[in-house]
Amino acid sequence: MLPLCLAILGLISSSPCTAAPPRDYVSDLQSVLTTSTRNKLLLISFDGFRWDYDRDVETPNLDKMAQDGVKAAYVTPAFLTITSPSHFTMLTGRHIENHGVIHNMWFNTTTQEKKQYYMTQFVDSYWDNGSLPIWITAQRQGLKAGSLHFPGTAATYKGETVRVRQVEPRFYDHSNETEWRLNIDKVIGNWFHQQDLDFVSLYFGEPDIAGHSHGPDSPERREMVRQVDRTIGYIRDKIQEHGLTDRLNIIITADHGMSTVLRGGLVEEIILSKIPGFSFRDIQFQLLDYGPVGMLLPKEGKLEKVYQALKGSHPHLHVYKKEEVPARLHYSNHPRLPPIILIADPGYIVNGLLPLNKHKGDHGFDNENMDMKAFFRAVGPDFQKNVMVDPFDMVDVYPLMCHLLGINPEINDGHLNSTKYMLLPKEETGGDNDTPEKNTQTKVVIGLSAVTGFLVLVFVITTSYNMCRSTKA
Ligand SMILES: [Zn+2]
Repeated sequence: MLPLCLAILGLISSSPCTAAPPRDYVSDLQSVLTTSTRNKLLLISFDGFRWDYDRDVETPNLDKMAQDGVKAAYVTPAFLTITSPSHFTMLTGRHIENHGVIHNMWFNTTTQEKKQYYMTQFVDSYWDNGSLPIWITAQRQGLKAGSLHFPGTAATYKGETVRVRQVEPRFYDHSNETEWRLNIDKVIGNWFHQQDLDFVSLYFGEPDIAGHSHGPDSPERREMVRQVDRTIGYIRDKIQEHGLTDRLNIIITADHGMSTVLRGGLVEEIILSKIPGFSFRDIQFQLLDYGPVGMLLPKEGKLEKVYQALKGSHPHLHVYKKEEVPARLHYSNHPRLPPIILIADPGYIVNGLLPLNKHKGDHGFDNENMDMKAFFRAVGPDFQKNVMVDPFDMVDVYPLMCHLLGINPEINDGHLNSTKYMLLPKEETGGDNDTPEKNTQTKVVIGLSAVTGFLVLVFVITTSYNMCRSTKA
């Protein structure tokens, strides 16, 4: 019996039979139960950066980022592929018909009042419409969030705003590289480094403006992509300078792409006033001359007349009663959508009285069109390195961000399964790659196992010690 007792005592190393719990064991248990290994997250949107804009320009910093992290073939934005609706999908993981920010413009079909993109940012009720952006969810779960110029930043949601924020002035030069660098210095140096924020969304208005003004195939657009590339290099340098490289994940994406507009002379433009049988006298409210999608509220009793006049009137114009909009577009089930939705094919614009829109490039088209796809890059401590991943949908970015931040997501239309393969396996990151609930459950199980193990150990030691003593006696 003595050799057995010695063997058991040997297995438990030098611990005396009546020793306190081994110190390392307890501290490991405490750290499992209490510490967080969550990394910070920076979400950057370059408005209108099409998925393939790096193909005809030298982009050394984007290429380096792809080597150091993850590049997706492309992201399919939500429809309608325009700025505010698409960014709110990024922030909520909801299709546009579910979050209700259905257009860049706020409008009232009774008073005819319309607000342009900038003024719409301040209409709280337009944004605070049932879906919470990730900033508010993060703040409610104890994290610190910030946002600079991102669509939706100015609004108040259920009485709460993103606590650290900067909204651009009304007349702002969205293309100025010096301004961009000042904003980056603020976000990295002040917000992340000094104020220790956990999550920031950062918006740049280019290369959308260059794409609209000069077209997606223009030298001006290519020059702007070079500016974006320099900016990505600057951001990564700043992160390094502030010692954040190993603690900060970066996602860089865009709200939509850009397509060349075909002009009169080359094609027959879509001009509603020229369509036989259509009359603006039958229309109570119209939202036209805003890219490839138009919306109409016919006067009472005129819906069928307007619909029949427009349907089949132009080979590149799709005319829908809102309930007929293809389900895959998720753009029919919201009360803000007027009863008739007009969607033009790529290259075409829905004009009202005259072709007023002079853009050489535009977006807003069907999100299945390749010109509407957006780019996506990610780098940081939780991401794989030098990995190219398959395309996914914009709604899937939200659950990925919640997962990285270790917060419980709100109800959303995305799936973590679409993006989780771009993450490092848990043991390699030291971070949390499971859902928060699962993490909590895992920690509880580990904790209970540790306590049980310790009690068993004490029992074995005590029993063995008593057996030793009784054997010796
Ligand atoms: Zn945009």
